[in-house]
Amino acid sequence: MMCGVLGLLGGHSIPFAKDLLLLLTHRGQDASGLLWVDSDGYRSSKTMGHPAMIEVPNARSEIIIGSTRYPTCGKKVVSKDDLMTFVGPFSRESIALTHNGNITNMKRITNAGYECDSEFITDRLAELLSQNDGNLTRAFRELDKEIDGAYSLVGIHNGVLFAYRDARGFKPLVFGRTESHTVVASESTVLDMAGATLERDVYPGELLLFYPDMSMESHSIAQGRTHSHCFFEYVYFAHPAATIENQLVYDTRFRLGRALAQRFRKMSLEMPDYVVPVPDTSRPASQALAEELGVPMREIILKNRYLGRTFIARSQEERDAMAKTKYIYLEDKIRGKTILVVDDSIVRGTTAKMIVADLKKRGASKVYFAATCPPQTHPCYYGIDIATDKELIASDTSIEGIAKYIQADALIYQEMVGLVNAIGIKDVCLACLDGEYPTRYARQIRENIEVSGSSSMGRDYERSFE
Ligand code: SF4
Repeated sequence: MMCGVLGLLGGHSIPFAKDLLLLLTHRGQDASGLLWVDSDGYRSSKTMGHPAMIEVPNARSEIIIGSTRYPTCGKKVVSKDDLMTFVGPFSRESIALTHNGNITNMKRITNAGYECDSEFITDRLAELLSQNDGNLTRAFRELDKEIDGAYSLVGIHNGVLFAYRDARGFKPLVFGRTESHTVVASESTVLDMAGATLERDVYPGELLLFYPDMSMESHSIAQGRTHSHCFFEYVYFAHPAATIENQLVYDTRFRLGRALAQRFRKMSLEMPDYVVPVPDTSRPASQALAEELGVPMREIILKNRYLGRTFIARSQEERDAMAKTKYIYLEDKIRGKTILVVDDSIVRGTTAKMIVADLKKRGASKVYFAATCPPQTHPCYYGIDIATDKELIASDTSIEGIAKYIQADALIYQEMVGLVNAIGIKDVCLACLDGEYPTRYARQIRENIEVSGSSSMGRDYERSFE
């Protein structure tokens, strides 16, 4: 699952934990859940949709975990009956956990029919704990040898809060502490709101144990492998105020805009009247691009703020319907102007095509379209629900073909070098841009697809190729 996860230790009000979870809503709003410890053991409450709807008691708990869910494996949550099966956190015996990421070989390890990889990890860790005398470190060492994919998780074991990040470090996970509290979360913005200063990222392959007396232990489970931090966190997923691997996401997006300006100049196009961001993700990049080109940035495409992210809508039909009502245009500013629209990425091309048509319908003389991300040519098997080639226009269409499809007067894509320099760290996963999957089983899925073709329905990593 692509998710936001949260862990709290040291006595927090459960309603406050729910407020903190709201800061991770942009990472998933299919369903949400909180789990806490009371005198009778683990208690949980889950809801379809937004965390604001989780019903919780007006009480405190020494230790709380939670997640917002965006499904990249198993089905979407369509009824309350689905909540216990598909939505973390889960608990088994002494352990409870929830995770962000996608286990690519779950169907190969088990035929138990799991629909949710968080539940699978919970059950497997419970088994490994019983086989290893309750030793969590040893259980994790064995788990790491079995599973392939991305998983940043938080959990509880015998009153201890733990955090683990897979050896590649695909998905972000950070923590901070005060004298009396520990906060672990997918994004540092949660720490700010909880009053904890960002201490650092959980290192890839590191298991952290946080004890009630605020001491901490770090165990190396699978460190030493090359890291593969998901570049798309910086481009799209994370909040601009988040700091991941010591990079402020806002600054990265600003640098992406500067790099796009260089790309624009190379194309010798007529200067636009305005640079216009597609809200909200591309705003910092648009600002930088406008400054570099010396033209004004104007926010003439406004978001209908009562809609969620179209990317995490439940179906293509729902996505299409949302896209039609997603934007409101400042019509007076458009007529007769050459407009350079900036979006974070072009996935299916439908939103780009709609925006270009909307601007032309309102009298724009030319519309250039720029993407802060290079063409996405390959699916992601690590926890973003672009799971088949068929969902990506760039998988089989040239840049010229995409420009023609979206009816733009020019299409300006970020170059790979611009992206990598803007992110500023070396060890990033770029598999959806270059097809170089960093883990063994994802490479096998890819090889199978090269032979048998991509699925037209469902997710390729959930297919059986045997
Ligand atoms: S394939 Fe792309 S979206 Fe998936 S983890 Fe790698 S960089 Fe991120």
